[in-house]
Amino acid sequence: MADSQDFQDLMMDAPIFYIEPDSVTDDRVILPDTEGHHAISVMRLARGELIVVIDGLGNAWRGEIAATSGRKKVEIALHSQVRNFGEPNVRLTLACGLSTGYKFDSIVQKGTELGVSRFVPLITEKSKVKIDDPRRARTKLTRYEKVALAAVKQCRRSFRPEITRPVAFERYVGEIDSETPTLIFHPSRDSVALDNVPLDSPSRVNLIVGPESGFSPSEVETARDRGAISVSLGTRILRAENAGPVICALVMDRLGELR
Ligand code: SAH
Repeated sequence: MADSQDFQDLMMDAPIFYIEPDSVTDDRVILPDTEGHHAISVMRLARGELIVVIDGLGNAWRGEIAATSGRKKVEIALHSQVRNFGEPNVRLTLACGLSTGYKFDSIVQKGTELGVSRFVPLITEKSKVKIDDPRRARTKLTRYEKVALAAVKQCRRSFRPEITRPVAFERYVGEIDSETPTLIFHPSRDSVALDNVPLDSPSRVNLIVGPESGFSPSEVETARDRGAISVSLGTRILRAENAGPVICALVMDRLGELR
């Protein structure tokens, strides 16, 4: 059954809901209240309806609504499980320079749809942002996580990307492991075209994108010293919030993930 056309179609089309990791017992699961409310009160789903559930850790199940009660209680009977549902073969990290008034939400939304596994907000030399106080930082992180979860459901993948706290550029670059292809995007004559970057079915790739005002020459130098390749997308300069998703799309396409 697992690879029949019906199964594939269901996994592509059926309404998709998030469940808390480890909430499955004996092939049954109760949807979290917000998801249950959405199923009953917004989507008007009823008993017997076929659905897909994901746990945010790369697991998906095909199942059906076994029972509903009130406005938000939905019990699902699970039929079969799929590991890494909707996930790319590569683990992509997108590290993006923060700017003031910068729409990191938009980067998280679009990057998630394109298959990013990890987002790293970078504080760079030209970022001009102040580190938030811990409460504000938590509020923002919660918001980004909400945006990411909505994007995970809408694009039908099963892994919730990790979103780290803001990290200083030097620190991030200093921790890059030399085995992982790392690309720093920088519009300069010294940068190479993406086509000329060797990417031989890597299991991980790191992408580093600057803030609105770009990287300083010494930041690019530091990254190169750590083994990063500096890459140019040509003479037209993209705004940072466009550059991040465009770069993810180009790299995912290059790795055969968009076909
Ligand atoms: N004035 C800045 C441009 C910043 S654009 C500068 O000259 O560096 C914001 C970020 O998007 C850049 O730091 C880079 O990472 C990426 N980017 C935008 N357009 C690019 C291009 N044509 N080539 C390479 N990277 C680009």
